[in-house]
Amino acid sequence: MTSIVKKSIWFSWLLIVPVGLWLTYQVFPPPGDLSLWEVFTFLLLMSVVAAMPMVVNNTPIFLIQWVSLAVFLTYGIFVEMVLMQISVLILLMRLRVQKSDLHRFPLNSLMFFIVSLVSGLVFYALGGTHGAHLADDQYTYILGTVYGISNYGVNTLFLVLLQAVVLKLKGPYFGKDFIWETVTTLITFPVGFILYELYQSEMGIYSLLFVGIPFASLSIILSLYYSSGKVNQYLQSAAEIGHQLAERLRSDDVLDLFVQKLIEMLPVDYAYILDVEEERELKLIHKVEFGEVLEPVAEPLERGQGISGLVWAEKKPVLFHSKKQWKHINSGYIPTVAESILSVPIVRNNQVIGVLVLAANKKRAFEKSQLMIVDILCSHFAVAVENARHHEKAKKNSEHCALTGLYNYRYFENMLSSEFGKLQKGKRGLLSLILLDIDHFKSVNDTYGHQSGNEILIELAERLRNRIGDIGTVARYGGEEFVLLLPDMMKGDALKLAEQIRLLIANEPFTLLQSMDEEGKQILIDITASIGVATAPQDAEDSLALIRHADRALYVGAKRSGRNRVAEYVK
Ligand code: GH3
Ligand code: MG
Ligand code: MG
Repeated sequence: MTSIVKKSIWFSWLLIVPVGLWLTYQVFPPPGDLSLWEVFTFLLLMSVVAAMPMVVNNTPIFLIQWVSLAVFLTYGIFVEMVLMQISVLILLMRLRVQKSDLHRFPLNSLMFFIVSLVSGLVFYALGGTHGAHLADDQYTYILGTVYGISNYGVNTLFLVLLQAVVLKLKGPYFGKDFIWETVTTLITFPVGFILYELYQSEMGIYSLLFVGIPFASLSIILSLYYSSGKVNQYLQSAAEIGHQLAERLRSDDVLDLFVQKLIEMLPVDYAYILDVEEERELKLIHKVEFGEVLEPVAEPLERGQGISGLVWAEKKPVLFHSKKQWKHINSGYIPTVAESILSVPIVRNNQVIGVLVLAANKKRAFEKSQLMIVDILCSHFAVAVENARHHEKAKKNSEHCALTGLYNYRYFENMLSSEFGKLQKGKRGLLSLILLDIDHFKSVNDTYGHQSGNEILIELAERLRNRIGDIGTVARYGGEEFVLLLPDMMKGDALKLAEQIRLLIANEPFTLLQSMDEEGKQILIDITASIGVATAPQDAEDSLALIRHADRALYVGAKRSGRNRVAEYVK
């Protein structure tokens, strides 16, 4: 809401309400014999009712029409107006309206003033009078009902106009809160007649107690009913989110979905996920502020440090409604403008593997029932993320060679056929392949042992990886054979690269770390390799032919011609 709108609300209130109250007093003065302490007792009842609103979809539902009907029928429009104004004040104080929302005071005061005025005028215009006995004058029932309907009608009209014109919200304006308001008003409204009639009878002021107590019980039951419905809904969506999390196979996807769902479900301004690293510290791994995923750069927290550190140490969730409750604790990453905080440990096999922190600038943004749901979601998340990590690890193992860490033959074959597919669809122009075989590797093994042979393979893999970077893919093709796949590389460039690789091996001896010579010095061995190169489409029409032809170049052109050289495929 802009400040101009807020100012005009204050201005309209100032213009209308004080003068309106004074005029109402002049035109419809309260009965002369009114007992102030009885009015006060009615006020007490209204205040109790105002202090127990039900909050549905963030809208407070305020079941006061029945008391205000009894007050109106007893004392007339002016007293009803004044008591209603006080009740609204109490309601807003109970809802802890924030400083930035202070305009809600004049807005609601103005709204209820108009509601009281219009429904009172309708009642009087139809010939109604206050203080009549319902049993003697049954017409008052009808008028009372008309009063109730206009009361409710003006109120609803006001709310719709407010949403459509002032807040410029697009419908639907008649949500769950509207249905609840209508149903509860219908249920409680007739109680107003009972209260009025009992009050007129011998029972007098005690009737307030007799009617007030059942009403209070009813409103507590309705409130509980509503919140249990809400918890059911939360549980249902938690189960659904759990399924969705379980379906994700990448741990990053699990994380994204988890946080996104939390933000959809709860009024979250800040969301952080921290990972327990080696039982030592908490590392920030995911950070979302106002719906935007940010780079999670931050110093790690120690056990017990910050709110998340405490949650980790104590293994218990925390819920803070306002800054007052947590400001003595260092907040960690949570900005100091935040008020509400909800933080839950992410537990797997009885061990805290992470911490979730949610925060909002609003006070009392999170409820206890939500904490429970978040807790359930966190256990779904813990399982899902662990499964995804297992899956990722298994996938990595199945694609890589354990000794050198390079891709293995199986992965390479898939990659080759998918690259060939791109070539055939015209998405790629060229595909070069370099095949490399170490010369006389058997004698290296025979001289220095198999373990030393392995060390050489590891170091060679490292040299290849560093040279290729992201221009292509390196894989271990077999024992001491390596293959490089180079998309969009011309044969000439592939030959040049092959020659660089040959020199990279031949010019720099390999160090054996495990074995020493007689003088205790590290042994250096000179290694060479023979290399064959082929390029598609010029040398091969399918992926198997490309390998076969590179292999042929390697054996015929390089090995047979004396080794330690590069050869290209020739038809
Ligand atoms: P060339 O290729 O020059 O003809 O001679 P070579 O000695 O390299 O011949 P060949 O390719 O037939 O032999 C490959 C040898 O590589 C056999 C085996 O001892 C060795 N080898 C294969 N895989 C491994 C491995 O994982 N570790 C070690 N240390 N040696 C391996
Ligand atoms: Mg070989
Ligand atoms: Mg060999």
